[in-house]
Amino acid sequence: MPRKLTNQVREFFSACLRLHSYNIFKNPYIWFGILWGLPVPLVTIFLTMAFTANNHLDHAITHVLQNPLQWFFLAHPLLFGALFGILGTIRQEKDTQIQNLVEKLRQLSTQDPLTGLVNRRYFIEAFAEEVARTLRQNIPLSVVFLDLDFFKNINDTHGHRMGDTVLKEISHYVQRQCRPFDTIARWGGEEFIILLPANDEKEAVACAERIRRGIAAGVSKKIPFPVTISAGVARYEAGDSLQTLTDRADQALYKAKQSGRNKVVIWQEQEPINT
Ligand code: GH3
Ligand code: MG
Ligand code: MG
Repeated sequence: MPRKLTNQVREFFSACLRLHSYNIFKNPYIWFGILWGLPVPLVTIFLTMAFTANNHLDHAITHVLQNPLQWFFLAHPLLFGALFGILGTIRQEKDTQIQNLVEKLRQLSTQDPLTGLVNRRYFIEAFAEEVARTLRQNIPLSVVFLDLDFFKNINDTHGHRMGDTVLKEISHYVQRQCRPFDTIARWGGEEFIILLPANDEKEAVACAERIRRGIAAGVSKKIPFPVTISAGVARYEAGDSLQTLTDRADQALYKAKQSGRNKVVIWQEQEPINT
């Protein structure tokens, strides 16, 4: 017997044992089955009436009830109700399986497995949505580009596994520092990006600065050495694409790196606000 058929038979019998298959309040398929089976006893009674009971309905019903063979036809609505109920249960289980798979795929395609943050793919979608809201409501929108300082040295000195721990701990810290509706994504390697809806560049700098200071002060006992970050901030201007906006934030980040690291720089001012 092919494996697929075996599975189907197993599914069927497992659904037979589920209460959901017989619960008329939760499983609408049972009602379809009952309706589907209803004509069978009606036709049985009608034929008995026409050919055996001289057109007397009460005679026909008594005749049908007296013959156990006919009970099979009378029971058809219930039989179909149960059968459809079982199929309804199988369908419901398949639906749940598909929903779980879709959710898993969604997570796999949008989440960074190391840090648990969303990835660039998710960020691109979130950005499009936030831009639409920004334009609709005429509110500001800003991004912060974060980059760990001398991260290669951390890997080289403490090992790649410790490097991973640093990325994880910093990610969790950044997430804790942001609001629930901010989007924090791992842009790549040791670079992160934060989308701050309803924040102008000054508020974004305040956020980035809080994160920078917190990280410099130490975020976790799992990191037994100092770690610092640099950040570039840019505000969304009408007509910006993600590319143009992140280019500006990246330029500000470059300035922060050039001017000594462990700094936050706003693109417009092009001057480090922290030394
Ligand atoms: P800078 O201050 O200029 O940013 O210097 P940097 O050393 O941080 O930057 P660089 O681009 O030279 O090095 C980044 C390093 O990040 C190199 C790469 O091996 C490491 N890296 C990227 N992704 C991961 C990761 O998932 N885990 C670990 N442990 N290291 C990673
Ligand atoms: Mg770096
Ligand atoms: Mg980098």
